[in-house]
Amino acid sequence: MQPDQPDKGAGAPNESLLFQSLKVYLDNKTRQQPIIGLDSVTECVKAGSCNQETLYLCVVCQCRIKRADVRNHIMGTLHRYRYIKARHPDLARGWGQAVDIPKLARPLMELASELEKRDGPGIVQVCVKAVKNI
Ligand SMILES: [Zn+2]
Repeated sequence: MQPDQPDKGAGAPNESLLFQSLKVYLDNKTRQQPIIGLDSVTECVKAGSCNQETLYLCVVCQCRIKRADVRNHIMGTLHRYRYIKARHPDLARGWGQAVDIPKLARPLMELASELEKRDGPGIVQVCVKAVKNI
């Protein structure tokens, strides 16, 4: 993706709770796990509610994820697999239909780290829903 200038303004589009919670990890030079596919994740926040109610939707996996599980999801083999299959089908050629996902864990991690170097981790979409009675 584009090498944007870091935006210091409050409420920058990239300031989702998920991105904030991943920031330290993303800056960690010795981290093991690549992070890709954040752009397939939507953070759904209820305006005026506490953060606990935040829910995540992953488009490529077609699932809802609780806040407590979202990090594991992003770094999970299945998410990488589905993301690469959906967004980079050229790289997924040869995987076929019935794939033994656990066996792909290592190649997927390597592929994910290539993709992260090339495209970055992606930007989480944020969707704030208004709550009627405050
Ligand atoms: Zn996913």
